[in-house]
Amino acid sequence: MLVILNPNVEEESENYKRTWEHLQSLSEIRLQKHKVQGRGQRLTEIYLIGNTAAVSMEEIEALPAVERVIRISHDFRILGRHSNESGSIDFEYNGVHFSQDNFHIFAGLCAVDNPGNVEKMLQALQENGQVCTRMGAYKPRTNPYSFQGHGKGCLPYVFELAGKYGIKVVAMEVTHELHIEEIDNCLEKLGRPTGVMLQIGTRNTQNFELLKAVGRQHTYPVLLKRGFGISLNESLNAAEYLASEGNNQVIFCLRGMKTTFNAPHRNMVDFSHIPIVKRLTRMPVCIDPSHSVGTREFSPDGVLDVLHSTSQGIIAGANMVLVDFHPAPLEALVDGPQALTLDELPKFIEDTRISREAYEKRVALWE
Ligand code: PEP
Ligand code: MN
Repeated sequence: MLVILNPNVEEESENYKRTWEHLQSLSEIRLQKHKVQGRGQRLTEIYLIGNTAAVSMEEIEALPAVERVIRISHDFRILGRHSNESGSIDFEYNGVHFSQDNFHIFAGLCAVDNPGNVEKMLQALQENGQVCTRMGAYKPRTNPYSFQGHGKGCLPYVFELAGKYGIKVVAMEVTHELHIEEIDNCLEKLGRPTGVMLQIGTRNTQNFELLKAVGRQHTYPVLLKRGFGISLNESLNAAEYLASEGNNQVIFCLRGMKTTFNAPHRNMVDFSHIPIVKRLTRMPVCIDPSHSVGTREFSPDGVLDVLHSTSQGIIAGANMVLVDFHPAPLEALVDGPQALTLDELPKFIEDTRISREAYEKRVALWE
């Protein structure tokens, strides 16, 4: 059972103390407290864990600091959408607002290679009105002899250039908890010219110790990729690990599934699962058409396959798209064959705008 307290209630207040004492007196119930920083208000949520069947919702709702009570019906206690719950995870990070109701583009380099390409990429984003990007510094590679990313060595110029071009959020994969510290130290040293969304890749979706470490920190929001070979339920449970450690600023990313039937796509595109993730949980949903499709082939209608898939995701309600671009895809050190070029960026943005508008019209039709 989830007990949501009145916004901004102080722990020193009489109402809070009376409520807490009553909850503590319930037999066979353990309490777990979470503080959630929403936009403009601080929420306190208390989870009642144990035998809650005998606890009366009316009795708890009558306590002085309680706003409402939710009986939790399934596994995703914090991120899940429960019986009488509407709305979504909704937060602002470094001036950018994330929820299930809006849409952002994170176009950028799969892997950082050199300052020149980082600068060209970021400049193009600024010229096209973008404030978010993706930049890979720590790359999880199948082959140990492949380029593994520049690691912490590239962070200073990536963050400085991001600041220079007005980028507010850089999605950056971490594969070890030490990377969080490296990113944090570097940003701090530079005076925080930009922000970072910590990305957990598909190969680490069930790396529980990494999930716990990323969940324990509350400085950075998290982008969690769906595991490529596990069930949706298992991947959503992985997201819940982050929240159970205290960080509920989590965005869930669909990036295609590995099957024997995905070819000629790199992975089986799974964007039709967007409404399912939104129904089961309150997380904003991201799509990664680059790692799903994996090529820069054009359809006979003149549209890139990557854009057809992007559009399919947006028209089904995606809240974010993570997409690979590169100033010179042939020179890219990782995933060049799926990268779009900088002169394709304006059309990419316009295509996503058209798709988002179509989604909004579809929703209005069914209201
Ligand atoms: C990436 O986004 O760079 C990446 C490695 O993706 P995934 O974890 O989905 O393979
Ligand atoms: Mn990649």
